[in-house]
Amino acid sequence: MTFLEKNDPETFQNYLKDASNYSGKAEKVFLPQTQDDVMAIVKMASKERKPLTVSGNRTGLAGGAIPQKGWIISPERMNQMGSVKVLGKDKAEITVGSGVLLSELFRETEKSGWLYPPDPTERNAAVGGTISTNASGARYYKYGATRHYVKSLNMILAAGDALELKRGNCRAREDGSFSIPLKSGSALKGKLPGYVMPNVKNAAGYFVEREMDLIDLLIGSEGTLGIVTQATLRLIRPPEKVFAGIAFFKDEEAAWSIVVRQTLEAEDQRLLFDVRALEYFDEASLNFLKPEYSNIPRSAKAAIWYEIETDRKREEKALEVWGGQLEISSALEESWFGETAKEQMVFREFRHALPVAVNEKVTKNGFRKVATDFAVPLQALPNIMKTYADLSVRHKIPYAVFGHIGNGHLHWNLLPENQSDFEISWELVKEAAREAIEFGGTISAEHGIGKMKIPFLRMLYGDQGLSEMAEVKKVFDPAGILGRGNIFPEELLPML
Ligand SMILES: Cc1cc2nc3c(=O)[nH]c(=O)nc-3n(C[C@H](O)[C@H](O)[C@H](O)COP(=O)(O)OP(=O)(O)OC[C@H]3O[C@@H](n4cnc5c(N)ncnc54)[C@H](O)[C@@H]3O)c2cc1C
Repeated sequence: MTFLEKNDPETFQNYLKDASNYSGKAEKVFLPQTQDDVMAIVKMASKERKPLTVSGNRTGLAGGAIPQKGWIISPERMNQMGSVKVLGKDKAEITVGSGVLLSELFRETEKSGWLYPPDPTERNAAVGGTISTNASGARYYKYGATRHYVKSLNMILAAGDALELKRGNCRAREDGSFSIPLKSGSALKGKLPGYVMPNVKNAAGYFVEREMDLIDLLIGSEGTLGIVTQATLRLIRPPEKVFAGIAFFKDEEAAWSIVVRQTLEAEDQRLLFDVRALEYFDEASLNFLKPEYSNIPRSAKAAIWYEIETDRKREEKALEVWGGQLEISSALEESWFGETAKEQMVFREFRHALPVAVNEKVTKNGFRKVATDFAVPLQALPNIMKTYADLSVRHKIPYAVFGHIGNGHLHWNLLPENQSDFEISWELVKEAAREAIEFGGTISAEHGIGKMKIPFLRMLYGDQGLSEMAEVKKVFDPAGILGRGNIFPEELLPML
């Protein structure tokens, strides 16, 4: 065996907190290097009935990688980088270990002239973590989430079985029942939950769809169904041209107007260009960034970061039409614009600097992050924005709203500075969750449920939905050792 073990808590404190400031406890940390290592560790945990939590790179924002007891397994040494395999003019794939970081994956694919479209703001995430949360980010607007780019998965399940699942090879039946063959020759048999997922960007609970590809059940399962050891990812050709910018506005409604026009009304413009990212910053968000970016225009009260794909033939006209759009929405003259990759990286960093600054403030205040990850249909966006503002102002809790506005998906970050405001903040989030669900939205569009959002998941799918999900978990993990505390309340899991 080639795995390492850390037994002294002094040596693994960094495994006990994630980016949301959620903290926990563990007895030891295992660092496997091969699939056989993972299998051996899982079998030990199973025999000793130890809760086993999978840790990616702990950039998660829902406490999913942080246990309250038992062992941690981190596939960080399983960081084998494959080479890009070209399958056709516009088709390629790459096979990587689950410990590879997104930043390393991007470097490798870009070097070979290919694009891996999922683009979570945080590139320190490990590939296994992004698959297990079905991460997405700014480019979701055009390209969708991680699941759309996962071609196959190698996993180890809770009893030590190896599973290799290729997209297209194994589907659920019409009545929701499924049978997944294992490498050992046996099969996992069960029934999918009966709930219907909200028709918005969604990462809440297990993915369920009629006659679904069963690889999608595992993607986004937050370390509760198995441990991802390796993945083959689909790559595409990058666009010929991209132009991008940060458009500043003198009020928030002006910023929303360009988003609504692009998303709901801009049919004829799609012949000229594809908007691939539309990201929002409210005034408080800009205030967070001002110490680092003194060039933010003084009169700016909101901003949109956009990335737009086109080609050489259509570029001139595309720029003209987009410029007109900015003008109609009264974007400020001092807005930023960039055509080179270097300029565009500056905008990307500007966007990334925001959650980093907010998370730093959360840590400084000494509380866990209190933020929404709700998505609502675009028509309901102004209503939910109003709810966020009204609740924060009424309870005098500082806040900032930013994120993936093009998908009706904004992060309302509450910034309580004392225990009583911290508790009130979670109540306010609960109130807004009720409203998001009423609008047909979701309570998690990309960060997942982890340990922090179980009550919201219950609000979305009810007790029955949770119980049906727990039945699926029992098929994959009969003893209930994996990802204990994630997605499910304790009472739905077997006793350890
Ligand atoms: C500044 C900042 C910006 C962010 N922006 C975005 C964004 O735009 N979009 C977005 O989607 N997320 C975003 N995130 C959240 C985070 O980056 C993602 O959730 C990411 O996918 C987590 O990856 P990780 O490797 O850090 O996983 P971890 O946090 O370590 O784990 C996350 C979950 O996955 C499970 N897991 C990890 N590895 C495996 C594995 N190999 N097998 C099975 N289960 C596993 C864990 O048990 C846990 O439940 C952001 C975070 C930060 C700090």
